Amino acid sequence: MYSHVPENLENVENSVAKAAENAGRDPKSVKLLPVSKTFPPEAIQMVYNCDKKSFGENKVQELLDKAQELPRDIEWHLIGHLQRNKVGKVLEVATYIHSVDSYKLLKRINRLAEEKNIKPKILLQVNVSGEETKYGLSRDELKNCAEYAAASQFVDFKGLMTMAPFGAEEEELRSVFSTLREDKNRLEKDLNISLPELSMGMSADYKIAIEEGATIVRIGSKIFGKRY
Ligand SMILES: *Cc1c(COP(=O)(O)O)cnc(C)c1O
Repeated sequence: MYSHVPENLENVENSVAKAAENAGRDPKSVKLLPVSKTFPPEAIQMVYNCDKKSFGENKVQELLDKAQELPRDIEWHLIGHLQRNKVGKVLEVATYIHSVDSYKLLKRINRLAEEKNIKPKILLQVNVSGEETKYGLSRDELKNCAEYAAASQFVDFKGLMTMAPFGAEEEELRSVFSTLREDKNRLEKDLNISLPELSMGMSADYKIAIEEGATIVRIGSKIFGKRY
């Protein structure tokens, strides 16, 4: 049933590399994160067998279940909304949390990381487009959270993440992605820190995201197929 997955993966990898080259960037500066949500462990195993060992999941319980079943050396990225009461569990398995979308959540991650003596890699999720239905920090909240994260010894503040509006035209996508890049550049300057990662771009818009500076593209359906 998932026999097409390795070929899809290869096509996407080539396409991501080409998009980087077309944008005058080093293809190695863009990482492909396969997003395996809703797909079963057997599909993930096929990608893993192609030597891709990082996966993105958007639901905590699904992430925990899959982490139990699949090889231990997988690097799990939580990319979906995280409730504060589930932070402890997530920190047991996820290396990256892309979806830090409130000050309270950030503080909770910080406190539990200190207790567990770990240093999770985090990205602050920004609601650039300001859609009410979207999770993510407003630009004002971003400043406070970035200051807190930059000063913390218990979180490894890696960069910013956003989701573009669904079905948006190229011009709007470009504006969302370039705004996130500018936010990152400004924070690096104002806080005198380095933020290596910009997590932006999905199956429908990754080429534009790469042109606008994405370092992690989160791609699901183009690799695994349609979700039902
Ligand atoms: C599902 C999801 C993706 C991948 O979406 P596709 O369109 O299938 O590539 C990326 N990022 C987040 C946060 C997601 O929830």
